[in-house]
Amino acid sequence: MPTVEYDIAILGAGPVGQALTLLLARLARDPARIALLAGDGGAGQPGAKQAGAAQPAPADDPRIIAVNHGSRVLLESLQAWPVRSAAIDHIHISQRGRLGRTVIAREDFGVPALGNTVSYADLHARLQERIAASGVTLLSGPPAIVDAQDADAVHVRQGDTTLRCAVAVRCDGAGGQDVRRDYRQHAILTRTRATLAQPGWAWERFTREGPLALLPHPQIQGDYAVVWCCEPSHAAAVAQADDDTFSAALTEAFGTRLGRLRSTAARQVFPLHLKARHAQAQGRVATIGNAAQTLHPVAGQGLNLGLRDAAQLAHALSSWLAGAQDGSPAALLADFARTRLPDRLVTAGITDIMPRAFATGFAAVEHACGLALLGLDLSASIRSPVARHFLQGLRN
Ligand SMILES: Cc1cc2nc3c(=O)[nH]c(=O)nc-3n(C[C@H](O)[C@H](O)[C@H](O)COP(=O)(O)OP(=O)(O)OC[C@H]3O[C@@H](n4cnc5c(N)ncnc54)[C@H](O)[C@@H]3O)c2cc1C
Repeated sequence: MPTVEYDIAILGAGPVGQALTLLLARLARDPARIALLAGDGGAGQPGAKQAGAAQPAPADDPRIIAVNHGSRVLLESLQAWPVRSAAIDHIHISQRGRLGRTVIAREDFGVPALGNTVSYADLHARLQERIAASGVTLLSGPPAIVDAQDADAVHVRQGDTTLRCAVAVRCDGAGGQDVRRDYRQHAILTRTRATLAQPGWAWERFTREGPLALLPHPQIQGDYAVVWCCEPSHAAAVAQADDDTFSAALTEAFGTRLGRLRSTAARQVFPLHLKARHAQAQGRVATIGNAAQTLHPVAGQGLNLGLRDAAQLAHALSSWLAGAQDGSPAALLADFARTRLPDRLVTAGITDIMPRAFATGFAAVEHACGLALLGLDLSASIRSPVARHFLQGLRN
């Protein structure tokens, strides 16, 4: 079995692994000593179907992602901002069937936009273009695994090849087993057109079955990307309904603020879980992005949090990477994990509570949630820190 040596192996070429690769390539004396291992079954192309994978290949991934202001700044610094995006200037948050709502506005934060939507596929393709020009080593093949580590190195295996590295970073999106929650909600992803569309507005509406988000679509002007979280059997039935039935059900769930909603695309269903690991570092192995914490998509935080993981890890390794790389980087990884903990806990905590608090079915809790929305709306001093966290996360 051939063994090759690298400084850093990155296992998983999703957007978090890709962004980390580019950040490290900028810092490395020799970018070729950074290996990005794409578990694409050997086809090597972003559009290749992944054998046995529950997740679609990146080019077919239907997700529309809300990227916050901080993430946009990071992606632009990597020259990886996709050509197609749509700005979010206002976010309207409400609860179906109850009073209380809050609006977060761009003007309150002095930023060009609260966030932007991009498609997962466009973002992945743009990052991949930048990686191709970065000088790093791109290895495609079967899923990679961390085999073992000792005092001197960590050993990573991809098919018949073993990589001996100073550091391995898991970015495989697989989540951890330390904290698990099945939300008993499935997300229906699709696109819709509204008769009374409001450009620049994003909507998060909490229903008894889960949140329903409408986001400005980055590719089809005037359309909205839909993330509709429902109880699983309802999601399956609604996803398979004919267009008229689906459009009526969506309008009924969302309400009439945007007029009538009409289905304009196919529908896909994603089961929703919280899967997180406590430790982001074990010796020479770090874990970031969805591999460290897979969150409920409410408030669109998963990728944003993962990109903050990547930025902080690159920062932690910067002097080691630029220097002689003598000595173990394990202490740097342990520091990285400690530094990231508050942001991970707060973000995972908020996104775990929100979809459940509004879905208890208890009138008293629903009223309390409505009051909380009203309180946020009336008091900028409460609203601002919450919104600022979603805009840029906890900064260390
Ligand atoms: C419905 C939905 C809506 C969402 N909306 C938002 C949003 O609006 N805003 C936001 O910030 N986040 C959002 N998210 C979350 C966001 O999609 C994820 O947080 C983000 O994709 C995580 O990126 P990642 O690179 O860590 O993992 P992934 O995107 O899962 O990528 C991991 C990659 O690693 C590959 N891989 C797996 N195993 C191996 C292996 N053993 N070896 C090598 N490669 C491997 C996979 O094939 C995949 O390509 C949403 C999620 C869902 C489900």
